[in-house]
Amino acid sequence: MNDENQKEKLRLHFARRVTTQARVVLDTWQKMRAHPDGAPAFRNDLSAAAEKLVRYAQRFEMEKHAIAGQRLVELLVRWSADTSLEPTLMDELQAAMDALNQSTQRRADQDETGSPRTFRRTPVYVAISNMEMASRLIKQLEFFGFRASAFDTQESLVEACALHKPETILMDVNFGGTANAGIATVEKLQGRHDTPIPIVFMSDEDGTIQTRLRASRCGGEEFFYPAVDPGQLIEKIETYTHGNTVEPYRVLVLDDSRAQAKFMETVLKKAGMTAHIITDPMQIITALESFAPEIIILDMYMPGCTGMEIARVIRQQDRFHSVPIIYLSAEDDVSKQLHAMSLGGDDFLTKPIDPKHLIATIHNRGRRARSLLALMIRDSLTGLYNHTHTLYLLDQEIVKARQKGHSLCFAMLDIDYFKKVNDTFGHPIGDRVLRSLSMFLKQRLRKTDHIGRYGGEEFAIILPDTRESDARSVLNEIRERFSELLQPAGDREFNVTFSSGVACWQDDSSQALCERADRALYNAKAQGRNCVIAAED
Ligand code: GH3
Ligand code: MG
Ligand code: MG
Repeated sequence: MNDENQKEKLRLHFARRVTTQARVVLDTWQKMRAHPDGAPAFRNDLSAAAEKLVRYAQRFEMEKHAIAGQRLVELLVRWSADTSLEPTLMDELQAAMDALNQSTQRRADQDETGSPRTFRRTPVYVAISNMEMASRLIKQLEFFGFRASAFDTQESLVEACALHKPETILMDVNFGGTANAGIATVEKLQGRHDTPIPIVFMSDEDGTIQTRLRASRCGGEEFFYPAVDPGQLIEKIETYTHGNTVEPYRVLVLDDSRAQAKFMETVLKKAGMTAHIITDPMQIITALESFAPEIIILDMYMPGCTGMEIARVIRQQDRFHSVPIIYLSAEDDVSKQLHAMSLGGDDFLTKPIDPKHLIATIHNRGRRARSLLALMIRDSLTGLYNHTHTLYLLDQEIVKARQKGHSLCFAMLDIDYFKKVNDTFGHPIGDRVLRSLSMFLKQRLRKTDHIGRYGGEEFAIILPDTRESDARSVLNEIRERFSELLQPAGDREFNVTFSSGVACWQDDSSQALCERADRALYNAKAQGRNCVIAAED
C-alpha cells in the first residue's frame, strides 16, 4: 500500500470517529426534544458532546463538522442552566442540528469505494389541526431520520412550501377550519410545482367518496380515515424517499462504429443513465466483469462476429442469464429479427435510432429486470436481502476482505419475545414491527453494509471494513435507540428489543463465521436479552 493510500485509510478511520460523535450530539438533541419537561437536564450533556465534536473535528480536519459543532457550542452558551429553552433559541439550535445532520447521515458516509453519495432528506410537513397528534407523529418521524415540522395555519404552510419543497405533506382534509379547506390549499400548492408533491390526507370526520376523489385528484397518495396509523405513514413516506433515490441504469453498448457508439453514449447520459461503450467485440468479457451492466445493447453486424453470437456467449454465464439484451441494426427483415430474438435477445431497435424510443425501451426492460431480480434476492415483507442472497454477499465480502487485508464483521439479530408480540397484538402488528426494524437498520447503517432478513424474526448484517469493537458500538447504539421506539398498536403502544451476536472474520469460512455469530446470539439471549455479545475466539 502506498503512502497516499495509507493516509486516505487513516483519514476514513478518523472520519468515522467524528461522525460517531456527531451522532451522539444529534441523539442527545432528539432525546431532549422527546422530553420537553426534562430539557434542562440535557443542557450539560449537549454542551459536553458538542465541545467534544469540535475537538475531534478540528483534530481530524473535518471542516464542515467543526463549523457545525462550533455553531452549536456558541448557541448552547446562551442557554442558562436549569431553564427551559427559549423558542427562538430552540429554532436556531434546530437549524444548526439540521446542518450537522446533513453532514453526518451514515448513508452519506464517504463510500469506501470512493464515490461520495449524497443522501438528503427533504422535510415532511404536518398540517393537522390536532397539535398533540402532530407532535406525536413528528417524534415518530424523527426516530426514522426524517425532518418534520408542524404548521398551524394555511399561510405558514404555503410559505414554507415556497421556501423548501417537502418530501410529502400530511394534510388534514379540513385543515384551516372549514370543510375541505385542506384540500383547497393543496390544490393551490400543486399548481406551483412542475412535479406534484405526494400528499397523505387524513380526516377524522369525512371519509366520503366525494372527498376521497377530490383528495386523490390533487395528488393524494393515501387517505387515512378516521385515524392516522404512524407505522403505515412512515412506510408510505419511506417509499417516496426511495422513489427519489433510484440508481441510474447501467447500460453497456457494443457497436463497432465509433460514431454510433458515441451518439448512444450521449443519449444515454442525457437520460441520466450510466453508459459504458465498447467498439471491439473481443472486449465484451472484460466489460461484463468490470462494469456489471444491467442492460446490454448489441450491434447486429460487426467485423469478426455477429451480435447474436455475442449474445449466446453472454447467456452462457449464469450471472448474465437474465440481463436484458437489446439488438441494434439497420435490419428491417422481420424474420431475421425473430431469429435474433430467439437466440437470447429481448428487443430489437432499428437504426437510425430514435432517442425517445431507445430510452423508453431501456426503462421498460430495466424496470422489469430490476423487479425480477428483486423477487429473486429480496424478502417481500421487509425489502431486505433474503437468506440466500445474504450468504452470497457474505462470501463476496470475505473475498474482498482477504484481497484488501480488511477486517469484516458479521452480526445476527433476533427480536426478543417476538412470539408474545404476535400473541398479544396479532400477526399484522408483528409484521409491522419487522418492517420497522428493517427500516431502522437501513436508516442507521452505512450504505456499504448489507442487511438481510435471515429468518422469521432474525436479521443478519454484514459490516465490511469494520473492527469488532466498532461493530459492537454501532449495534449497541441501534439496539438502544430501537428499544426506545414506541410501536403503535391501535390505541396502545409498546416497546420491542432485540439481542445480537457479532463475530469478526478470522480468515475462516462464511459458514464458520455465521456459526460463531449465532453462538454469540445464543449467549446474548442466555444473558437476559436486549444486549450485544461478541463471539468468543
Ligand atoms: P426469544 O427472545 O427467545 O427470541 O423469543 P421469541 O418469542 O422471539 O422466539 P421464538 O423463536 O419462540 O418465536 C419466534 C416467533 O416469530 C414465532 C413466529 O410466529 C414469529 N414469526 C416468525 N416470522 C414471522 C413473520 O413473518 N411475521 C410475524 N408476525 N411473526 C413471525
Ligand atoms: Mg428466533
Ligand atoms: Mg426471537
